[in-house]
Amino acid sequence: MTDTLSEQLSEAQIEGHVEDNVEENAVPQALRPRPAINLDNAFFFESLTARGELSIQQCSDCEELRHPPVPMCPDCNSTHWAPKAMKPSGIVHSYVVLYHPIVPPFEPGYVVAVIELEQGPRVVMNLEGVEREDVKIGMPVEITIERMDADLVLPVARPAAGKSNGEQA
Ligand SMILES: [Zn+2]
Repeated sequence: MTDTLSEQLSEAQIEGHVEDNVEENAVPQALRPRPAINLDNAFFFESLTARGELSIQQCSDCEELRHPPVPMCPDCNSTHWAPKAMKPSGIVHSYVVLYHPIVPPFEPGYVVAVIELEQGPRVVMNLEGVEREDVKIGMPVEITIERMDADLVLPVARPAAGKSNGEQA
């Protein structure tokens, strides 16, 4: 299992879709908490790991995008769906700054945001590259797919380059 995932990671990195979020020469530290993977959301993590893509469930009958993943379309009750790769951009819909309880390896004061993707669905992810006091609702972000450790690949949002709302005034 681990070998397969590691091989997929290497392939994705060779293709340049997955960036490395691990600091060089970093002191060994606690790994990030593992996501709870089930039959409905497994595709989400497989898309990140194998292809460096942020994929969202799309109903095969009415084409509604839905997230978090569920077995049945809330609009038309269809159980047919396929993963659809999203554009790596969006805006900050909402966010929290976490101080307590802190789970290693996170440091107090990190930002977790609900990112509204350009295509509509909202996805929770870390927001990096901006001081917590400078985060603004509606701030444009770009999303990169990053390797956190040998077995974990996650999307990370950062202020979009060249967008006025994302820059410090
Ligand atoms: Zn539907």
